[in-house]
Amino acid sequence: MIEFPPYVISPIGIIHSCYPEKFGIPRQPGLVTSSSGRLELLPPWNREEMVKGLDAFSHIWIQFLFHEAVAEGWRPTLRPPWLGGQKRVGVFASRSPHRPNFLGISVVRLTGIRKEKKGLFLEIAEIDLLDKTPVVDIKPYVPYSDSVPTASGGFIPPPESVTREVVFTKAAAQYCGDYEHRTGRRLRLLIVETLGQDPRPASQRHQVREYGMALWDVNVRWQAHGERFLVLSIGEE
Ligand code: SAM
Repeated sequence: MIEFPPYVISPIGIIHSCYPEKFGIPRQPGLVTSSSGRLELLPPWNREEMVKGLDAFSHIWIQFLFHEAVAEGWRPTLRPPWLGGQKRVGVFASRSPHRPNFLGISVVRLTGIRKEKKGLFLEIAEIDLLDKTPVVDIKPYVPYSDSVPTASGGFIPPPESVTREVVFTKAAAQYCGDYEHRTGRRLRLLIVETLGQDPRPASQRHQVREYGMALWDVNVRWQAHGERFLVLSIGEE
């Protein structure tokens, strides 16, 4: 066996995300254009010189730790949601968090870089990251080599095939309006796009059922009627 010297990877940053809980997070980045957050660089990696030139790129790769999967452990085979939760594939044929080393990769949109009194932040959007996710590396996305237009996507369907219809009660619509006015966050669009991706487990797709989902600092209660979702109410966490 080839021996490697022990090497510890420690986080260089932490994610502040619109998704405080796992339920509802899109299955890949780029699916929910209104999702957003901040990547806070941690000392000693929060020096401005370390991100010099990065603002020239529209997108970045974030390499991160699936920290909320570590306690659950990794699995050699998994049932990806794309296959209706029925068929098993190998962990290395999946994008599951439950993998050896628990490392994830996401291409996200870089919307700004801000130096503030409390630290150095990358503003990011179109994310699939849980709040407090530890980040281990950042790289610019390079379209000519990182995108392969002729590539086969295997069993993972393109996003437009999973969009659902989302409607709001009068009270929920009113809450969104007030919240947006108060915070500047586009809550209604975030709900529409997040539910549009159908966050339900495959086994519940044919049930009429009520769900709760946390976004930013609010809790959203919604009901599924087949492929149509009704947002019932929204309230503070
Ligand atoms: N784009 C990444 C990749 O391919 O490595 C992540 C794909 S993974 C299928 C996306 C899911 O991981 C999200 O829907 C969410 O449920 C989960 N997730 C996101 N951040 C996480 C974290 N820090 N710990 C555990 N699970 C996380």
